[in-house]
Amino acid sequence: MTSITNCYVQPIGNGYKRVTLPHQQTVYLGRNPKTCIQDTAVSKNQLSLKADYRRKVVECVWQGINQSGYNGYTMKKDTTYGFSHGDKIEVVLGKFMYEVVFESQDLNTNSPNKKLKLSNASSSVEESTVIPNHFNGSWQFIDNSLLIYTPDVDVKGNKIASFDLDGTLIKTKSGKRFPVDKNDWVFTFPNVQDKLKELYLDGYKIVIFSNQLRLGQEKQSIPSFKEKIVNIIRKIGVPIQAFLATQRDIYRKPLPGMWNCLLKLLTDEVNMDATFYIGDAAGREKNWAPSKSKDHSVADRLFTINTGVKFHTPEEYFLRARSVKHVMPEFDPRTIIPFPEIVPVSPNPEAIIMVGSQGSGKSYFCNQHLVSLGYVYINRDTLGTKQKCLNLFEDCLRKQKAVVVDNTNPDIESRKPYIDLCKKYNFACKCFHMNVSHAHSQVLKVNKERYESNFLREEDTRDYSGYVYTFPDVRDEYDFTFQQIAAKLEFSERYGRGLFRFKINLEEYNKQNYK
Ligand SMILES: [Mg+2]
Repeated sequence: MTSITNCYVQPIGNGYKRVTLPHQQTVYLGRNPKTCIQDTAVSKNQLSLKADYRRKVVECVWQGINQSGYNGYTMKKDTTYGFSHGDKIEVVLGKFMYEVVFESQDLNTNSPNKKLKLSNASSSVEESTVIPNHFNGSWQFIDNSLLIYTPDVDVKGNKIASFDLDGTLIKTKSGKRFPVDKNDWVFTFPNVQDKLKELYLDGYKIVIFSNQLRLGQEKQSIPSFKEKIVNIIRKIGVPIQAFLATQRDIYRKPLPGMWNCLLKLLTDEVNMDATFYIGDAAGREKNWAPSKSKDHSVADRLFTINTGVKFHTPEEYFLRARSVKHVMPEFDPRTIIPFPEIVPVSPNPEAIIMVGSQGSGKSYFCNQHLVSLGYVYINRDTLGTKQKCLNLFEDCLRKQKAVVVDNTNPDIESRKPYIDLCKKYNFACKCFHMNVSHAHSQVLKVNKERYESNFLREEDTRDYSGYVYTFPDVRDEYDFTFQQIAAKLEFSERYGRGLFRFKINLEEYNKQNYK
């Protein structure tokens, strides 16, 4: 058992001095007798520092004129940074570097003066009264998909500190992308254990949300993976609940299934202001920091958008790094604006040809707005062949019945047979074009299957090969009445963060209404 006995900043270089930081006292690191720094690039009160021995943190604010830095990053004005043991401070960039040192006393030894560096210490006196010495846990397997480890010592609080696993809490010891065995892991940052213990003592329930598709594909690896999870949690030293998504389904991030499952298991309402999630799949581009490669996806960041939880990258959280630019998916369902629900149909019998990609909402639109008005519904998936579609279509025109053709009808050639029949019978004809971007329809296509989440996984977008919808000039295609409408999608409250439904964009309709 250890407790902090001293804190100071140690110079890394010559010509300036170590400065002691007493508990809860503000000390200035600048051009002053304490540091022996005389360089006029440094302000007298360049940095204010205040150590908190209990939390093992040195609070730091940059107050000088010239830029200060930490761990290779620049500091921002009016920002309080919290530095841990081993963090590096540059009084001005590139000059006068210090390292933060917390010293602790080992209370278990007979030599009270023995000093230990914090990184070697296990816990403080205060922690030993709160953190359970030993705890076990149990495993559940839900929907043949979601593995959950629940420790038998749990936290009753309503604040959740949640973490991704790979690349966030741990990385491979071997340096390989995937671990070679259950022991191939180390903590990603030196302060992972300390930070999680701090959270536990602060009343946080700590949770891991991890995508582990390989467990679903290689079921025989589940027992050793369970062992690995328990070992990681034991090494961290505080009770942690772990959710592992093993399939491509609603539990896989960025879909919110794991979070929703946690909510069902909780008795208290979650304090969302205090709750956060840390993950490395953040959509950062190549070289977001020197020699860093591109993030493999943006799934962790999207997971927090789908769940409403605050997001930080591991570097922001464990190293207090500044946030960097990231790339989001092309389609953002939060940008969808509702439009008035008016369908421009004629009181007289007419033919409507739907045009739009798979998943753009044609069938929903037809069933919702046209079938209910008595339009005969023609769809190749239900009738089987194009000829059957054309036969039924012609029958409708002959009998003066309103009709809608719900196929993708992507180009002039595919629409022509219907248009020719309309000409033959002198029947009014319209085209309803679902004006939905490719990225947008991809989200809808998958949402339709999953009924949950707003965002696609990247592989879904890659797998899809869509038509190109050609509208060279619609007036050249028809020599009589033609209308094009644009349908936009609206975020559906009915399914929470789930499905979309369709409404007509009246504004677009008026703009694009060809006579
Ligand atoms: Mg990760």
